[in-house]
Amino acid sequence: MARMQPIQFNLPQERIPRVWYNVTADLPVPMAPPLHPGTHKPIGPDDLAPLFPMALIAQEVSTEREIEIPDPVRQVYAQWRPAPLYRARRLEQSLDTPAKIYYKYEGGSPAGSHKPNTAVAQAFYNKEAGTKRLSTETGAGQWGSSLAMACAFFGLECKVYMVRVSYNQKPYRRALMEVYGASVTASPSTETEAGRAILAEHPDTNGSLGIAISEAVEVAAKDPETKYALGSVLNHVLLHQTVIGQEAIEQMALAGDEPDVVIGCAGGGSNFAGLAMPYVGRNVKGLSKARIVAVEPSACPTMTKGPYTYDFGDTGHLTPLVKMHTLGSTFIPPGIHAGGLRYHGMAPLVSHVLDLGLMEAVSVQQLDAFAAGVQFARAEGIVPAPESNHAVAQAINEALEAKREGKARTILFVLSGHGHFDMQSYIDYQAGKLENYEYPAEEIAMALAGLPTFK
Ligand SMILES: *Cc1c(COP(=O)(O)O)cnc(C)c1O
Repeated sequence: MARMQPIQFNLPQERIPRVWYNVTADLPVPMAPPLHPGTHKPIGPDDLAPLFPMALIAQEVSTEREIEIPDPVRQVYAQWRPAPLYRARRLEQSLDTPAKIYYKYEGGSPAGSHKPNTAVAQAFYNKEAGTKRLSTETGAGQWGSSLAMACAFFGLECKVYMVRVSYNQKPYRRALMEVYGASVTASPSTETEAGRAILAEHPDTNGSLGIAISEAVEVAAKDPETKYALGSVLNHVLLHQTVIGQEAIEQMALAGDEPDVVIGCAGGGSNFAGLAMPYVGRNVKGLSKARIVAVEPSACPTMTKGPYTYDFGDTGHLTPLVKMHTLGSTFIPPGIHAGGLRYHGMAPLVSHVLDLGLMEAVSVQQLDAFAAGVQFARAEGIVPAPESNHAVAQAINEALEAKREGKARTILFVLSGHGHFDMQSYIDYQAGKLENYEYPAEEIAMALAGLPTFK
C-alpha cells in the first residue's frame, strides 16, 4: 500500500497558545503615537476610556512581548482552535509547480472567519468591565456576525451599523447577526448625527466602513453603558489574531518545513498581521528569513498607492489621528465584492512594519482574485471568502513564479474565511458581471486633499 501523504498538520487542544504575541517588543523603532484630533498631542488612556474597557486600552499601548490569554477566552477558542494547517497538494498538482503551498484555515470558526479570535476577547474584557452593550460597524458582515456571536456567549447586547451596500447585498449575513441576537441597522442611518450629516449630502450613498465607524463610535461615546468594538486596524485587535501565526509556526515545524514566503490578504490588516507578525518577530531575531507579503485589492490600494501619514480612522472625524497608509478618510471605495477589504486605511502596526522594510505589499485585481478562488475551490474544495481570494491569488502567483524559475519555494498563506455567505459574488463572477476597477486616482486625490494638516 502506498504511504499516505500528509495533508493536515494538527495540534492538540493543549497547544492553543497561552499568550498573544506583541511584535512591537521586537521592533527596532517604536510606533508613532495616536494624536488627539483637536490638540495634535499624543492621546492618553483616559481619552479612549469612553470607548474601550481599560484592559483593552492597556493592550493597545502595551510594549510587553507576551500578554496572557484569559482562561475563559482560551476555553471558547478551544471549539475551533488550534485551527488546521493544510498542505494544498491538489492545488500544487493543478499548477504543476515545484512549490509547496500550505494554508492556515480560519474558516472553521462558527462565524466562518478569523474574526471571532478578537471578538471573543473583546466581549470577555467588556463583560469583566461591566459593559452592557457593544456597538460596532460591519462591512461584509463577518465582523458583525463574529461580535454578535461573542456577545451572545458573554451576555452582552450588540448593536451593528452595517454598510448599506452590504446590508442590501448580504441579507444572510444580516440574518445571522440577528440569530445571534444583535440589532442591525443600515449605515448611514438616521439614528446618529454622523449618519444624518452624510445622508443630507449624499442620500444615495452606498455607505462605507469609515461612515459606519463614525456612527458606532458616536453611539458608544454618548452612552456610558455602551462601548465600541472594532474588528480590525487597532493594535489590540491585531494582537488577538496572533494565535494564528503562533500555531502556524508550530504546525510548519510538524510538517518539517519553513516558509519562504508568508502571505495574507489585508483590509484593515488583522488576519494578515495575525499570521505574519509572529514571523516578523522570528525574522527580526534571525530565526527565519521569510518574505512577508500583504495583498490588497487594486480598487482600494492603501499600502501600494496611499501615503504613510496621520489621518482619521473614520469619515466623521470622531477618532484619534493615527499614522497609517491611507487613501483619505473620506474615500469611498468602489463596490468590490471583497467588502472586508474596503477600508480607507491600513492598521498603524502593519503600516509601521511596512515602513521599516520588514514586509512587502502587493495589489490584486478583483477578477484575478475570483479566478484564483475558483481554481482553489476546484482543487481544495473550500470556497474562500472574496477577501481571502486575494491571498489565494498571490499564493498562486508565487507558485507560478517558482515554476518559471524551476526552483522550490515554500508558500504559507492564511485563508481567512469561507465564502458560504458570499455566493452571490460567485454567481455574479460566473455570470461575467464582475469587473476590474481602475485605480480611482481622482477620487483618491480628492480624499487625500482633505488630510489633516500640521503646523
Ligand atoms: C474582515 C475580513 C478580512 C479583512 O480584514 P482584516 O482585518 O484585514 O483581516 C479578510 N478576510 C475575511 C474572511 C474577513 O472576514
